[in-house]
Amino acid sequence: MAYGFYFDSTRCTGCRTCEMACKDYHDLSTEAAFRRVFDYEGGEFVENADGTVTATTYAYHLSEACNHCESPKCFAACPTGAIEKDEDGIVYIKEDVCTGTGACVDACPFGVPILVKEKNKAVKCDMCRDRIAEGKRPICVEACPLRALEWGDLDELKKAHPDAVHAIAPMADPSITNPSVIINACPAAKEVGDTTGAVANEKEVTFA
Ligand code: SF4
Ligand code: SF4
Repeated sequence: MAYGFYFDSTRCTGCRTCEMACKDYHDLSTEAAFRRVFDYEGGEFVENADGTVTATTYAYHLSEACNHCESPKCFAACPTGAIEKDEDGIVYIKEDVCTGTGACVDACPFGVPILVKEKNKAVKCDMCRDRIAEGKRPICVEACPLRALEWGDLDELKKAHPDAVHAIAPMADPSITNPSVIINACPAAKEVGDTTGAVANEKEVTFA
């Protein structure tokens, strides 16, 4: 059994409640966010011969945390054995073992782990392991006012949402690690590798 997330991009309004609830719960500084909300936008306005304008513009949001991948590149890259994948499929960093090499930061195709320079440690979402152990859901799922996030047994989530896809832009190619995430793609959503749009809030979601 592996736990996973379901994200419904038809419901998400980009409100950031999930991100803020996570930052609050994990007491994160401005230097880190374990869940990030990407604003993906694209398209253009084209003037027609008769003077009218046709719009192909679109915008949608992607709320993404660690994907707790089936084949996590972070785990494979860590030279000190600081990253574990437990029996529930949760990928987490053992802070006392991490020496801050940053190998996981470089290896993760989704840009998830963040190196906190003051602590010389890499940090990332651990799916709220402590809450799960107490029979609770991850705080982001609990907080979403639009019920755009679900969490649970990945196989059960897939059964409940048979039309869900593995990824949408701007996520990296899911075939690299097989993320434990499924997504209900909104009509505007673009496929992975899309070049018609771009992340409009790059600074907000990038932690160097
Ligand atoms: S999303 Fe990145 S950090 Fe999370 S398990 Fe996958 S490879 Fe590791
Ligand atoms: S709290 Fe829900 S609606 Fe708001 S950004 Fe997160 S996933 Fe989207």
